[in-house]
Amino acid sequence: MFDTHTHLAHRAFRKDREQAFERALEAGVNMMLEISWDLRSAENALRFAETHEGVWAAVGIHPHDSRNTPKNYLQQIEYLSKHEKIKAVGEIGLDFYRDLSPRSVQRRIFAEQIELADELKLPIVIHCRDAMEELLPLVEERGYFWGVFHSVSADSNQAERIAELGFYLGINGTLTYNGKGTKGWLPKVPAERLLIETDCPYLAPEPHRRQRNEPAYVRYVCEALADVLETSSGDVEAMTEANGRKLFCV
Ligand SMILES: [Zn+2]
Repeated sequence: MFDTHTHLAHRAFRKDREQAFERALEAGVNMMLEISWDLRSAENALRFAETHEGVWAAVGIHPHDSRNTPKNYLQQIEYLSKHEKIKAVGEIGLDFYRDLSPRSVQRRIFAEQIELADELKLPIVIHCRDAMEELLPLVEERGYFWGVFHSVSADSNQAERIAELGFYLGINGTLTYNGKGTKGWLPKVPAERLLIETDCPYLAPEPHRRQRNEPAYVRYVCEALADVLETSSGDVEAMTEANGRKLFCV
């Protein structure tokens, strides 16, 4: 299985990072994309990817951290992106739910990173919370549609629009206990655009809800998705792995 959104560099794993990685392998999760949220986590993510087979990394500035970016952050991302283990720019986007950075700054940093990804020919990992109505036009204006809407929360029209543009959709553990809206549109979007992810340490699926999440639990996402699509979890496993390989070129 391919967990396309992990934060193993997060301090929630400071005591058992290696064990969490081992548990993932035992659970059949042999591929992971480690996602950063600022420049420091980018270096940690890269170091983790460098030392673990089957792990790749994404470098980028999360909307929460947009207000703290140094002036030369784009050059720093570009420099890191030359490493063979870097496969995406992310996570980037807009978060109008928590508004930890001013919205104007979020928009600017997001747009600049899309342009950089376009230049670098890397896919983007998009974080979007309570901002889809602003984010979709912003992305359409930029005209770069290679990437994934991670932990996607969208209504049916938005989800279909995202798929039409050419983006992938990242499905997470909320599908195991909620996902009412998601279940409605899942059968309507092309299956070859679906990815599975944990977003660990956040968003643990049932039966681990409210605990720390970890990559091994992506199999619960896989099973929940198989239920909705009325197919076997083996099929979903193979399909989402192939989709992830294609998007991230691994
Ligand atoms: Zn994340």
